[in-house]
Amino acid sequence: MSIEKTLILIKPDAIFRKLTGLVLYRLDNAGFEMIAAKTVSVTEELARKHYEALKDKPFFEELVKFIMGKFHNIPRNRILALIYKGENAIQGVREIVGATNPEDAMPHTIRGSLGKISTKGLFENVVHASGNREDAEREIKLWFNPEEIIE
Ligand code: UDP
Ligand code: MG
Repeated sequence: MSIEKTLILIKPDAIFRKLTGLVLYRLDNAGFEMIAAKTVSVTEELARKHYEALKDKPFFEELVKFIMGKFHNIPRNRILALIYKGENAIQGVREIVGATNPEDAMPHTIRGSLGKISTKGLFENVVHASGNREDAEREIKLWFNPEEIIE
């Protein structure tokens, strides 16, 4: 057991469909503590850096457009970025977020109950959550300045 921090992004599909409150409700109910939160205008540079590990995947370009809100007409590419902290927060948040493919995600998870697959085949899976410690550390640095994190 250890105290961890993890990055959550409320993705454009969730912003568009007004799911922000539901997602926050579930994260809070899971017992994790919100230690940072802000709206971010996602630039192409930020999107590419965030998903750099997936740059060779066939869906990479779509993924970049997706997180920039290009498929949801989000003004100024606005999304919500959060850091949650708690015991085993990285794995714990992933458990309530559910599997990457909303069709495979358990019904009680965020993606299982709120996600869908677009007609283009891209997963509209509501949230991003860091996958492991290395990713969490890198992503938190990428999305937040240290003074924005209140511990
Ligand atoms: N993704 C997709 N189709 C796929 C695999 C991934 O649309 O076959 C998208 C989806 O939005 C996912 C993101 O790419 O959340 C990042 O993929 P990753 O494998 O890191 O999944 P995650 O960690 O988000 O569960
Ligand atoms: Mg991932």
